[in-house]
Amino acid sequence: MGYRIKEIFHSLQGEGVHAGRAAVFCRFSGCNLWTGREQDRPAAACRFCDTDFTGTDGPGGGVFGDAQTLAAAILAAFPYPLDGNGWRPYVVFTGGEPALQLTPELLDVLHAHGCQCGVETNGTLPLPAGLDWVTVSPKAGTRLVVTQGDELKLVWPQVGADPSDFDGLDFRHFILQPRDDAGRGAGDEPGADHVAACVRYCLEHPRWRLGLQAHKFLGIR
Ligand code: SF4
Repeated sequence: MGYRIKEIFHSLQGEGVHAGRAAVFCRFSGCNLWTGREQDRPAAACRFCDTDFTGTDGPGGGVFGDAQTLAAAILAAFPYPLDGNGWRPYVVFTGGEPALQLTPELLDVLHAHGCQCGVETNGTLPLPAGLDWVTVSPKAGTRLVVTQGDELKLVWPQVGADPSDFDGLDFRHFILQPRDDAGRGAGDEPGADHVAACVRYCLEHPRWRLGLQAHKFLGIR
């Protein structure tokens, strides 16, 4: 069967606590909350997705037969030698939904090469053990099975998901990220200022911090 990968690329993390950190991103193809087809968006469990995760045709993408082969492609995407010197290369598994395909074998191979491995997940599927950083981005109307981790990143506003719904969960960081769905038909209040709403919420609820998608205003991937 193999791992179906949309793309593998090196960039700066644009979101969350690790914003600004160089990493190789491995984007898995497929998601359990949307097909990725525009005609299916209105009926999808998640309707504000801003990512193309369909197919295996992106830069560095493809079908990789085993963990060793995929790990080799990920390691080859680092544009500098991976010889340590006091730092660990960072790999971010994203999607789509990485929990559909991520395996302990893949983490083991990357750990053996000194990598740190993070994941960005919608939290509705179990994750393999051994991840070094877990970011959960919950979606309204879905049931979280990943209820602890490093950061909970709520894209907001979302009808049916209030930040207070997640206050009792076991995360080190709580991040409110303004929903960016311009032109994608997922808005429930046209013209609403999502940034202002998130700023207001964080000012009134200091457990939450504002998260911005730096890669978008920097014009990088
Ligand atoms: S869960 Fe994530 S990858 Fe899946 S459709 Fe929603 S935003 Fe996109």
